[in-house]
Formats: sequence, structure tokens, C-alpha cells
Amino acid sequence: MTDIWTEALRGLQPRLGRETYDLWLRPLELVTATETRVQLRAPSQFMKEWFENHYKAAVLDEMTTRGHAPPAIEIEVAIEMTPEAEPAAVPAPAAPSVAVSAPIPVPPVRAPPPTGLANRYRFDTFITGASNELAASAAAAVAEEPGQRFNPLLLYGGVGLGKTHLLHAVGHAIHDAHPEKRIVYLSAERFMNEFISAVRYNQFDEFRQRYREESDVLLVDDIQFIAGRDRTMDEFFHVFNALYEAGKQIMVTADRTPSDMQGMEERLTSRLNWGLVADVKAPDLETRVAILRQKAEQDRIGIPDDVCVHLATLVRSNVRELEGALVRVSTFAALKGRPITEAFVREVLGEAAEAERHAAPITVEAVQKTVAQYFSVRISDLKGPRRHKGIARPRMIAMFLSRELTGSSFPEIGMRFGGKDHSTVINACKRMTAISLEDPELRATISSLRTQLVAPSR
Ligand code: ADP
Ligand code: MG
Repeated sequence: MTDIWTEALRGLQPRLGRETYDLWLRPLELVTATETRVQLRAPSQFMKEWFENHYKAAVLDEMTTRGHAPPAIEIEVAIEMTPEAEPAAVPAPAAPSVAVSAPIPVPPVRAPPPTGLANRYRFDTFITGASNELAASAAAAVAEEPGQRFNPLLLYGGVGLGKTHLLHAVGHAIHDAHPEKRIVYLSAERFMNEFISAVRYNQFDEFRQRYREESDVLLVDDIQFIAGRDRTMDEFFHVFNALYEAGKQIMVTADRTPSDMQGMEERLTSRLNWGLVADVKAPDLETRVAILRQKAEQDRIGIPDDVCVHLATLVRSNVRELEGALVRVSTFAALKGRPITEAFVREVLGEAAEAERHAAPITVEAVQKTVAQYFSVRISDLKGPRRHKGIARPRMIAMFLSRELTGSSFPEIGMRFGGKDHSTVINACKRMTAISLEDPELRATISSLRTQLVAPSR
């Protein structure tokens, strides 16, 4: 008979999803389980607390559903072997005959605070929901145990969904908890510019030292930027290896998965996939409302709850737009001396949003342009006959999205793709639907393109 712990985990697994299960539940080792008491061993204090705060209730709930009275769950922490905790292997030398002064205890060296981090992008200002839970929890784990858990950690997703926020939050949290760690944060673009100028002005040694030797944590925003820039990729590759081999934490963000980055070297793509790749999706209504409430509170904007909900219903695409909308509404309200009501929100945003929607329906051309940009292929290739996979796949995606978003008929879409037969379009749509059912990466790609098209960022 299986014990009550294992039974509950089995029941929970499909609901939690494999990734979450593998990350947070599998590492807990069962010591003993009876009907009244379950003893576990967690690999770290962090894992223990994370379980208690996030999953314990669900486990107890599952046990109750299966007809058990909720047992006491006790978790011990496996002893973490940090260098200081290791027992001295060598016996202490005999007392020297000549008196020497006792060694002066060396205070832990404080690294200078990381530069470039926005003060308000912290974990406590980040709202989690289903759309970003995996990303946020992995980021928290990295912050807690840099270099130990997920290395590298890569977060990807569309614009304005909180990737940069989480990257900064990790920087702040590591600095707070491990002040001795040297944290380097920068955008991939800045990395490239610094690299170029280091080469040009003969300061390559300093550059190498700063990134390969003098950083304990490297946080790089928008890594997709270096795709196709050969020398920068090469340099980043060496930085990556040096840090990785030294057990230093690397975390990057991107607007797409590594394998979707056209022009990214294979060896880099594979390294970026070594650790954990977690996506950030557009937040659901509940999360959007929570984000608005927090932001309103932070900026002391008086906005009733029902108006928050209304606003969150109007602005769906991404969090940056949502914040922008709140600022616009509150600024207008202050200017006109009016309270923020539902009608007022509609007046300020609703009509503008409606007008925009009517003025700019999504066209097949817009789909082609967005898809071509995303995959770095030419629009003429999408319309052309080439069957090479690097083009055929984007073409099928473009056809699929055209059908979904523009309301055009199959023959019409075929015509706009260089006069192809409607059956080609039908087949493309069928294939994309079938493949995306099995392939989460393709789903993510399509969803990110859809977001870009439905809500182009201005
Ligand atoms: P990205 O890097 O994914 O394009 P950002 O991290 O720059 O997005 O986020 C855009 C804005 O939205 C920032 O002001 C950020 O603080 C805010 N934001 C995004 N997601 C959340 C969230 N879950 N909770 C609170 N604020 C968020
Ligand atoms: Mg960003």
C-alpha cells in the first residue's frame, strides 16, 4: 500500500504540472509517513519554507480529499555543506613556541551595490499569478541560492510582462542576502557596446577581468540582442563558460526561446538551455487587478475596486500598458478634478481604445510583417515558394495567424501569400494546430506573436 504522502503527490502532480512538481516537490525526501505524521527532509531551508508557504496547503487538501485526516507535516533540513561548516580535515597545528598575535577576523567583504537596478523592481512589488508563477519562483530560488539551483536561468516572454522586473529583483535580493557577492547587471546591448569599445581602445584585459573574473552573478537583459553579432556572441560564450565553470550564477531574459533566436550560435543556444527556461505569459484578469491595486496604493491613487476591475478588463495586453493606463486616468482625473469612476475610465480610455480597434483592424500584411521580423526572414520569402524549413515554418505560422486574427478567407489568404492555393493555407493551419498541441515551444511562439499583433506596443 502506498503511504499517504506518496499517494497525495501522485494525485497532485497532474494539477501542478511536471515542472513545478519536479522543482518543488520531488526534492523533498520522505523519511516516514503514518496516518498522523509525515516526516520529510528538504535539501535546504529555502526549499522547506517554499514548500510550507506554497504547496503544503494543497498537499493537505489532497490528503483530505482522499479521506485522511490531515497529518502533521514535519520537515527537517539536510545539513548544507558550506565551506565554513565543513569540519576541519587537518588537525590544528601545535601551538607555536613564539607568540604570534591572533589573526584579525576578516569582516566579510561587501561588494559595491550593483548599478543599474531600478529600486522599485523588487520581489515584494512583483505580483505573481498563473502567468508568471514558474518564472517568479525560479527567480526566487536563484536569489536564495545563487549558482546552486538553476544555472543559467532564462526567462522569456513578450514585452511588458515583468522579465526585467524579475531580473532586477534577483539582483537586489542577492545583494541584500549576500552582500559579498559582486553582481553585474546590464543589457545585452550594453554588453556589446562595452565589448566593442574595449577592443577598439585596447582595454580588453579590463573587460575580460570585469566580466569573467570579477563577477559572481551576471544578469543580462534581452539576450536576443546579440544574436547574429558574431564577435559579441563569441565573447559572451567565453564569459558564460568562465562563470559557469566557477559556479557563478548567470541569469538572462529574452523575448523568445533560445531556439527561436535566429542567428544565435548553436553552442550558445545549447548553453542557454542548460539550466531552466521559464516563460512569462500575459497576466489573467485577477493578476491584472492585483497589479493595479498595488500600483495605485504605491502611487497613492484613489481608485475604487470595481473601477480597478473595469480598467483591467479594458487593458489586457501587458503590464506596462496597464500601468500606463492607470497613470493616464489618474493624471486626467487630477487635472479635471474628477473622481475616478467607471464612466470616467471609459471616457479617458474606453473610447480611445475602441477607436483604435476600429481604425486598425489586423491585416494579413501586418501579420506577415510581424512574423517576418520575429524570424528575421524577408516578407518576400513568406510569399515565395521556398520550402526550406527556416522559411516554411514561419510561413505556416503567418498563415495560421492570418486566419485566426484577420477574418480573411482561405483563398484570400492564399492570394496574399503570393497566389498560393487555398488548400495550402488550409493545410498550414491544420498542421500548426496539430503541432502546437504537442509542442509547447511553438505554442509560446504563436502566443507571443499574437500578443504583438493584438496589442502592438507604441
Ligand atoms: P519586460 O521586461 O517583460 O518587457 P518589465 O519587467 O519592464 O517587462 O515590466 C513592465 C512594467 O510592468 C514594469 O513597470 C513592471 O514593474 C511592471 N510589471 C510587470 N509584471 C508585473 C507584476 N507581475 N507585478 C508588478 N508589476 C509588474
Ligand atoms: Mg525588459
